[in-house]
Amino acid sequence: MFNHTEFKKERLFGIDFDVLTMRQAVDWVYRTVALGWRSETRYVVTPNVNLTMRHQKSDDFRRYVHGAALTVVDGAPLVTASRWLGMPLPERVAGSDLVLSLFDAAIEECPLRVFFLGAAPGVADRAATSVVAKWPAVQVVGTCSPPLGFEHYADQNRELVQQINAAEPHVLIIGLGAPKQEAWAFQHRQQLQVPVSLCVGGTIDFLAGEQTRAPQWLQRMGAEWLWRIATNPRR
Ligand code: UDP
Repeated sequence: MFNHTEFKKERLFGIDFDVLTMRQAVDWVYRTVALGWRSETRYVVTPNVNLTMRHQKSDDFRRYVHGAALTVVDGAPLVTASRWLGMPLPERVAGSDLVLSLFDAAIEECPLRVFFLGAAPGVADRAATSVVAKWPAVQVVGTCSPPLGFEHYADQNRELVQQINAAEPHVLIIGLGAPKQEAWAFQHRQQLQVPVSLCVGGTIDFLAGEQTRAPQWLQRMGAEWLWRIATNPRR
């Protein structure tokens, strides 16, 4: 297991968060990619308030978070609480922002190879088209939007892992929603020959333009969820 990073940890509502900035998280991903794959994928989880509550109630979810190589804080209220409680986390490191920052940091001499897993049919492909147009140093080496319920079928999971491994991504972007994405990363970490996997919710939707991000002021208030409900009432 590669769940030990060089970062200090702070335990907040039972979760051991890595104490780091967005810049440090990006550096960690690139350093881990440079080390190459070592026996299992090192996956990143990004708990927000909702997931923190789930962590308190679910033994399974606790195991998924415990298995992560990096745990970053995706929620302004959690950052504020960390300050009040005297164990300050430096800043919010939201999954979607982490992906954008990774892409911004990619260099053309050594393109970043990514695979998109998740979102509704066709959305991951649209995300791929828009990402390669915007970030020439990012290569989308594969996409898969598996049908609902795929996680219950061993053969489908096996094929999916094979498809991902054959594409040789540096980073697997998993957008299956929580807690499915954390469960999937945990359960397949030893088969996934990918240096880093990121459990990042609706990021593929954002990249495809299916869902817009909340304005900064709403994000700072920790009310991005309100924006998502208002702009996508089906949720
Ligand atoms: N999703 C998926 N497969 C599933 C369930 C969800 O690909 O079985 C996708 C869904 O289409 C959306 C993302 O997972 O793109 C969930 O995004 P959300 O923002 O709801 O994630 P959360 O906030 O729950 O982490």
